[in-house]
Amino acid sequence: MAVTAVVGAQWGDEGKGRIVDLLARQADLVIRFQGGNNAGHTVVNEYGTFRLHLIPSGIFHPQARCLIGTGVVVNPGALREEMAELAAAGVSLDGLLISERAQVVMPYHILFDRLHEQRLGRRKVGTTLRGIGPAYADKAARTGLQMGDLLDPDYLWERVEQLVAWKNEILTSVFHQKPLSAKAIYQELREHGQALAPYICDPLPVLDAALAGDSHILLEGQLGAMRDLDWGTYPYVTSSSPTAAYAYVGVGLPPTVRLRVVGVAKAYTTAVGAGPFPTELQDEMGEFLREEGGEYGATTGRPRRCGWFDAVAVRHSARLSGFTLLALTKLDVLDKLERVKIGVAYRLENQTFDRVPMTRLLQRVEPVYEEVAGWQTSTRDLREYDQLPPAAKAYIARIEELVGVPVGLISVGPERDQIIYTPTRGSNPVMNPA
Ligand code: GDP
Repeated sequence: MAVTAVVGAQWGDEGKGRIVDLLARQADLVIRFQGGNNAGHTVVNEYGTFRLHLIPSGIFHPQARCLIGTGVVVNPGALREEMAELAAAGVSLDGLLISERAQVVMPYHILFDRLHEQRLGRRKVGTTLRGIGPAYADKAARTGLQMGDLLDPDYLWERVEQLVAWKNEILTSVFHQKPLSAKAIYQELREHGQALAPYICDPLPVLDAALAGDSHILLEGQLGAMRDLDWGTYPYVTSSSPTAAYAYVGVGLPPTVRLRVVGVAKAYTTAVGAGPFPTELQDEMGEFLREEGGEYGATTGRPRRCGWFDAVAVRHSARLSGFTLLALTKLDVLDKLERVKIGVAYRLENQTFDRVPMTRLLQRVEPVYEEVAGWQTSTRDLREYDQLPPAAKAYIARIEELVGVPVGLISVGPERDQIIYTPTRGSNPVMNPA
C-alpha cells in the first residue's frame, strides 16, 4: 500500500490535473478530497482535452477507481454534465464512486454566492459564483444535505422543506428576492439522486480494501495552500482546506497512514480572484506570462493574474503540507526569457519577512527579488534532466534550495509525455520510491 497526495503549492491552477493524470497510470484508487466544481483541472490525453471540475483526474485510466470524497461539495447537476461529456468522448465511468457523505451544493447556494459577492462590492472575494462557499458554510452550520440523502425520498423532502423555508426567509427579508419553491428543488434533487444512485456509496469499505491490499492510492487536492481557509490569504480564500493534512479528513484516512506528498507549483505564479499576490506583474511581463502560459481560468475563462515564482509562498505550502517533492510545471513558459526573477522574501517598511504574514500585512508588502539568467531555448521536446540547459537547471536548483524540497518532476508542456523526471529519484519517484 502506498498513499500519495497531490496538492497545490500556490494559489491553484498549478497543473495538478495533469500530474494526477500522469501518476494515476499506476493508481488503483484516486480520491478527490475537498473543493467543488469551482476550479477546473485540465487534462490533455488520447481522448482529447478535458476540464474536470469534480471527477478525479484518474478517470481516464480504466484500472483506477475514482472516488469523489467526503470533503467535497457536489453540485449534482454539474457532476452529471461532466459525466455526460466524458461518456460522449468514450471515457468509461464504471470506476466512478461518490461518497454518500459528500455535501450537496443546492441551487440556492449559487444564488447566495452571487448575493453575498454583490453585497461585498469592492471588497468581494472574487469567487467563481458556483455556490461553494455557501455550501461549506451550511455544512458547518449543520444545515446542509449529504449526497446519500438524495436517495431517500421521505427524508429528503423533510429536510428540503425545512431548509428552503428557512432560506426563503433570508432571501425575501434580507435580499428582497422572490421565494424559492421547495417542491421544485426537491424534484430536481430526486431526479439527480436517481441518476447518481449507482455511484453513491459508503467510501470506507472501498478505502479499507485498498489500504489492506497492495494498492496505490492517489489523493487529489484542488486549489492551493495560499487559498487555504486557515493558512491562506484570509478572507480571500476558498472555504475548504487544500493542504495534504486535510486529505486525511476529506477522505477518511487515519492519520497513522503515512503520505507521500507531491506539491505542484508552476515555474512562475498565477492567481484567479482577489487578494494579495506579492509577485504579481501588472506590466508586459505579466501579459507575456498570461499569453505564453494560456492563463485563462478553466472554469470561468477569467484571465489569471500572473507573476514571478514566489518562493516564500511555496515554502509556506511545503511547511503546511510536508511536501516529499515538488512537481514544477510549465517550465517551458519561461523558455524565451532573457532574465527570470524569483521572489525570495517580502519587505514592508524596514521589516523583512521570510514567511507569509497575515493578509493585512501581506497586502502591503513588496517582494524582494533575485534575478537569474534565462535559457532562451525551447525545453518542450526535452525528456531527460541532463538535456536541460544549464540556466534552467540552475533556476530549478535555486527553487529547491529556497523551498527546501527536491524537484522530482518537471513538466515542459501540457501533453502527458512532456515530463522530465529528475535523475536522483528514479523513473517514477512518486509511486516507486527508492
Ligand atoms: P490545475 O487546476 O492545477 O489542474 O491546473 P489547470 O488545469 O487549471 O491549469 C493548468 C494548465 O496548464 C492547463 O491548461 C494545462 O493543460 C496546462 N499545462 C500543464 N502543464 C503544463 C506545462 O508543463 N506546460 C504548458 N505549457 N502547459 C501546461
